Amino acid sequence: MVKIMLDPGHAGRYYNASPAVSGYFESEMTWSLAQKLKLSLERRGFYVGLTRENIDDDPPLVERGRRSAGYDLFLSLHSNASNNEAATSPWMICFSDDVNTDSDDISREVGRLIGDTVSRIMGVTESVIYTKMTDFDRDGNGLLDDEYYGVLFGAKSVGVPGVIVEHSFHTNREATLWLMSEENLEKLAEAEAEVLLEYFGVGGEKDMTESERADLSKLKRNVDRLIEENKSYDRIEDCPEWARDTVLKLTNKKYLMGDGTKLSLREDMLRIFVILDRIGLV
Ligand SMILES: [Zn+2]
Repeated sequence: MVKIMLDPGHAGRYYNASPAVSGYFESEMTWSLAQKLKLSLERRGFYVGLTRENIDDDPPLVERGRRSAGYDLFLSLHSNASNNEAATSPWMICFSDDVNTDSDDISREVGRLIGDTVSRIMGVTESVIYTKMTDFDRDGNGLLDDEYYGVLFGAKSVGVPGVIVEHSFHTNREATLWLMSEENLEKLAEAEAEVLLEYFGVGGEKDMTESERADLSKLKRNVDRLIEENKSYDRIEDCPEWARDTVLKLTNKKYLMGDGTKLSLREDMLRIFVILDRIGLV
């Protein structure tokens, strides 16, 4: 199972207000997008973790990255800011080149794929890959080979490829308005999850053998049938048409009252009522 750690950038609801559109806060967007992306990924068979459980939790940056230990990928979700109001290009901040590990290659490849997806879905300028090392020996190994960004430094320290995904700029009016729509965030989450599925190529039905796929569809049919059989109808108008007249008669005559607010009639009960009605007993 592929495990992805999502980091909703920043904390609280009202952090990083947009200067372009009042009412937009980066921290609110990242929180909402993270929840949606989590669901979209889980639906595709990924195991998903979050670096923080509540919108107000604010773990230190390096710690956020380190929380991805044991995961396959770390993604920190953000929207960017610039003095140039016209800037819209999604920045994918990835690991710097490193000959000692593959995590930097994965970081940049995933960054490129997600960046393309974000710019396509948001309809903004082409995305860019950005990397930055610090000139300070953060891990004290005697080399100046450490990531500048705390979350990426944290992820790299536990061997997990990471990307900071900047979803365009909240200093651009159009991009900000776009990000304020929950429906758009939903689209973004779905598209990002889809491209991750294509990249990791697991967890989905496309990886199954013919017979596994047949078993799965049989299982799905059985589940659908069970749900259908156990479905209960609470109002007359919800009942299937073939049973509605009978139920109406029974409720008019007060033979059927439910619990006073809902009828809770299952399909098998409806069938019996209809038979009794045909016999003339209703
Ligand atoms: Zn941010």
